[in-house]
Amino acid sequence: MVLIDGKTVAQALKDRIASEVRERGYTPGLAVIIVGDDPASRVYVNNKKKACAYCGFYSEEYALPASASQQELIALIEKLNADERIDGILCQLPLPAHIDEKAVIEAIAPAKDVDAFSEADVGKVMIGNYTFSPCTPAGVMELLRYYDIDVSGKSAVIIGRSNIVGKPMAMLLLHADATVTVCHSKTENLREICRSADILVSAVGKIGAVTADMVKEGAVVIDVGINRGSDGKLHGDVDFEAVKEKASYITPVPGGVGPMTIAVLMQNTLKAYKSNKNIN
Ligand code: NDP
Repeated sequence: MVLIDGKTVAQALKDRIASEVRERGYTPGLAVIIVGDDPASRVYVNNKKKACAYCGFYSEEYALPASASQQELIALIEKLNADERIDGILCQLPLPAHIDEKAVIEAIAPAKDVDAFSEADVGKVMIGNYTFSPCTPAGVMELLRYYDIDVSGKSAVIIGRSNIVGKPMAMLLLHADATVTVCHSKTENLREICRSADILVSAVGKIGAVTADMVKEGAVVIDVGINRGSDGKLHGDVDFEAVKEKASYITPVPGGVGPMTIAVLMQNTLKAYKSNKNIN
């Protein structure tokens, strides 16, 4: 079994970005907005800020109270849309229930939508002609490439069909010529379908969602889940100790897909900078 080391792969990607930024004198700018005080969101936002500092980016953080109105949030996004120092804008999800996430995502200027959550970006990913990569799925693809894992013709099963992980993951694997099955909470025979997977990607958000009896001997197991356990620690969806005995490759949580998501976000922000400044 090979433990997929997302930290190292993400570091390599951030190092490439940081040296390009340094050598060319670029100043990509990322604005991160957080609404409310969700502890998990706070951790993600801090990690994004750290990655910006590491890559030599300019960054701004806006922390709005949970009581902030949708109009206030959209007014801030519009201000950032017009700010030349800012190339990428991301609004950390989830948002408080009184704010319409879709309206907020769609308010971000397409040239600055580095999370690639807008309907237009999701559609472009489906067609396979996109500028901004969907961060988490693209991070998974980068891990598969780094470890020379053959995807073409393989059976890939994804558990989860969210717009930010499951669906774009399916598209990227399909573009890489995998034969893709997407499962969800209504899927019948989940265990059997998962057992047919050469590559199994779990994006459920539940500890223990993937047990060893769902995994084929020699499968590649990618755990996107990030769940806070009753022990206060982060856990993936996969029963790691049991599944690692069967998998050929497996990602840990933490230290697997998570760092890749942030590295791809940095890559998208650099792309946005170059495109906004007409640099080829
Ligand atoms: P969502 O809650 O939006 O989606 C979860 C999906 O899992 C849904 O499609 C749901 O099905 C499906 N599901 C739920 N229960 C079951 C079940 N028992 N059997 C089969 N399918 C099930 O989550 P996200 O996609 O946003 O995130 C998934 C996980 O990934 C979370 O833990 C999140 O924290 C993590 N995450 C990690 C990132 C990283 O960087 N590593 C980035 C983004 C997310 P249905 O559609 O039928 O409800």
